Amino acid sequence: MRTYYENNKESHNETQKKYRLTDQFKANHRHHSALRRARILNNGTEKIDFIDVYKTDPKCFYCGIPLLFNDVEFDHYIPIAKGGSHTKNNLRVSCAPCNRRKGAMSYQMV
Ligand SMILES: [Zn+2]
Repeated sequence: MRTYYENNKESHNETQKKYRLTDQFKANHRHHSALRRARILNNGTEKIDFIDVYKTDPKCFYCGIPLLFNDVEFDHYIPIAKGGSHTKNNLRVSCAPCNRRKGAMSYQMV
């Protein structure tokens, strides 16, 4: 494995660099950072396909503006800091301004 890496360093790093630019990487990265926070607080988690969540409703949940996957922020409807779970049901597609505005405040449940 190590020898393989030494011999293929260039192409390995190239591949990694390209992978980091993909939507799949961004999705996984978001998933794992939220997962970590939710685990620490014991709120409940599940495996989430963010691309799937996005495709279900590709616009901001709060202001309704259509969003490209790259501009999407996934918002926890009930913030993890307030006991919300890291599950598909607690996720909303959000634009950056709406997500910032909301922060860790809780919206009333509908
Ligand atoms: Zn918005």
